[in-house]
Amino acid sequence: MIERIVAPPLGANVYLIMDEKKAVVDVGGDFRFIYNALSKHVDVKKIDYIILTHSHFDHASATADLKKVSGARVVMHKEEFEFAKQQNFSSSFFGIHFPPFEPDLIVEEGDRIELGEMEFKILHTPGHTPGSICLYDREGRRVFTGDTVFPNGGFGRVDFPGGNPHQLIQSLKRLTEIDAEFMYPGHDNPVNNAMEHINLSFKFAKMFL
Ligand SMILES: [Zn+2]
Repeated sequence: MIERIVAPPLGANVYLIMDEKKAVVDVGGDFRFIYNALSKHVDVKKIDYIILTHSHFDHASATADLKKVSGARVVMHKEEFEFAKQQNFSSSFFGIHFPPFEPDLIVEEGDRIELGEMEFKILHTPGHTPGSICLYDREGRRVFTGDTVFPNGGFGRVDFPGGNPHQLIQSLKRLTEIDAEFMYPGHDNPVNNAMEHINLSFKFAKMFL
């Protein structure tokens, strides 16, 4: 039901969710590679949503192209769209510009996206970027964490434009209050025991940020 594609060049995770509706979580990196990988699992034209955890190029750079070929609706947090526009759809740190796009569905904290069996609640988790989100499926005990939490105590960098260590700690604290078993991070492997990983990330972030 969930396929993971590791997209070059930075190895960010693209997740394809095949429920009654089809969604892709993050589409950064090489469009051709992602398109070919998605095509092995799904008719790309049947993808309903492209949900972006945040707008960094390694998570969002293929959005415009995938939207064009699939007709999928792009979902993004309100503050992240403002941030992406302000950054001119570029990653100043890497010096990379990517094709701009307009979201079709602007979301905020508490909004829900229903795919069928899975229903995601949007958790606004700023810190890595101003409009970073996590997708929480309470029933299925799943959480997609983008670059907010990584396994084994990892957490997103806060030294890029728009990063904020205080906000990241608050966001991690907040994530310790959910009840998930499966964590799907923006980089690295998905893991079970999600709460152990999230608790460790919160502990380390408090120590090191
Ligand atoms: Zn990022």
